[in-house]
Amino acid sequence: MNFEHSDKVKDLQARLRAFADQHVYPAEAQFEAEMDAARRAGNAWQPAPVIEGLKDKARAAGLTNLEYAPLCEIMGRSGIGSEPFNCSAPDTGNMETLVRYGTPAQQDAWLKPLLEGKIRSGFAMTEPAVASSDATNIEARIERDGDHYVINARKWWTSGANDPRCKILIFMGKTDPDHADPHRRQSMILVPMETPGVTVLRHLPVFGYDDAPHGHAEVLFENVRVPVSNVLLGEGRGFEIAQGRLGPGRIHHCMRLIGRAERALEAMCRRTVKRTAFGRKIADHGVTRERIANARILIDQARFLVLHAAWKMDTLGNKLARKEIAMIKVAAPSMACQVIDWAIQAHGGGGVSDDFGLARAYASARTLRLADGPDEVHRNAIAKMELGAYL
Ligand SMILES: Cc1cc2nc3c(=O)[nH]c(=O)nc-3n(C[C@H](O)[C@H](O)[C@H](O)COP(=O)(O)OP(=O)(O)OC[C@H]3O[C@@H](n4cnc5c(N)ncnc54)[C@H](O)[C@@H]3O)c2cc1C
Repeated sequence: MNFEHSDKVKDLQARLRAFADQHVYPAEAQFEAEMDAARRAGNAWQPAPVIEGLKDKARAAGLTNLEYAPLCEIMGRSGIGSEPFNCSAPDTGNMETLVRYGTPAQQDAWLKPLLEGKIRSGFAMTEPAVASSDATNIEARIERDGDHYVINARKWWTSGANDPRCKILIFMGKTDPDHADPHRRQSMILVPMETPGVTVLRHLPVFGYDDAPHGHAEVLFENVRVPVSNVLLGEGRGFEIAQGRLGPGRIHHCMRLIGRAERALEAMCRRTVKRTAFGRKIADHGVTRERIANARILIDQARFLVLHAAWKMDTLGNKLARKEIAMIKVAAPSMACQVIDWAIQAHGGGGVSDDFGLARAYASARTLRLADGPDEVHRNAIAKMELGAYL
């Protein structure tokens, strides 16, 4: 494959970098201040005005996965870098799902406002009661009653459900719990947040961070009625959609993590060339140099894996790229955790404070060894595909 970015991408990269330098990084402190003020006022679950202002300044572009990777990386450098471009999780994965599997009516009702950045969305699969990394365990019930489905479930880690802009959930549950094929028991269905019976029970912090106003929620669904036309693709097709949805969603996380790790490495270099300990710059201690070198190697390894996976998705489709997607989903979060951890160490006590953004970056990277499937599940899938030729 050709690693040279197209002129279009180079141009967009330059524009994105300039936008991030001029608008995004300077807005980080204001975002934290606005959220702190909202928390003190008793309601952090509302959009931060600074992000809404950034949105007005930014516009998204139509790109292939390979073209999107270097741009998503730039957005991922900041925790608030994706939303101004309407490229946040889980919206990008949900928008791809609606593009791919939505009917024209579903697209009109939900994809259009999502693309316009007027609403946000959530993905409700994981349940507290069962090991949800094995999606055949999902117990949510979706029962047909005339021209409606009735939904009963308790979900958690539904990212974004607390956000007042979140208007639609892609929900996974069982329509046919007794189907002989366990992969035909589940369906995905669109559940508007405002449907009676949908209750956000609580938000779930991540290492103590509330991630407001987006956050992660435990949500109760009690006799929630939605029209049968809300089902995506058809009854029993939930697994099929999950495979298609999670590919793009997963690789976008990885692209962002590369940007976050790159920024941590920059911070590490900047800090260690400035401070002196035991008679020499911290950057001149061998252990620091070794970590800086290894960080560069790990980041570039992950970047090339991402680009390769993106290229395979574009040329062969998400299904045939599933091994590469699984590989990067294991590699990128671990790489980011390691690089950010070295950057934290190089900053001394400052590294675990809120002053450098590293503690929060670590917390966020660490969750991605779980979210969208734990490492072990992806490794298992990779091994299965590797062994396939020998069995
Ligand atoms: C910040 C965050 C955001 C999230 N956002 C969403 C969201 O928006 N929507 C949503 O539906 N879910 C979301 N999740 C949930 C996430 O996808 C699940 O936590 C994940 O799939 C694991 O499911 P589980 O928590 O039920 O863990 P379990 O299934 O109970 O697994 C626990 C552990 O068992 C081990 N394990 C599991 N399978 C294997 C195996 N085959 N081999 C070896 N070990 C194994 C792993 O170590 C795993 O971590 C989010 C999670 C986090 C932390």
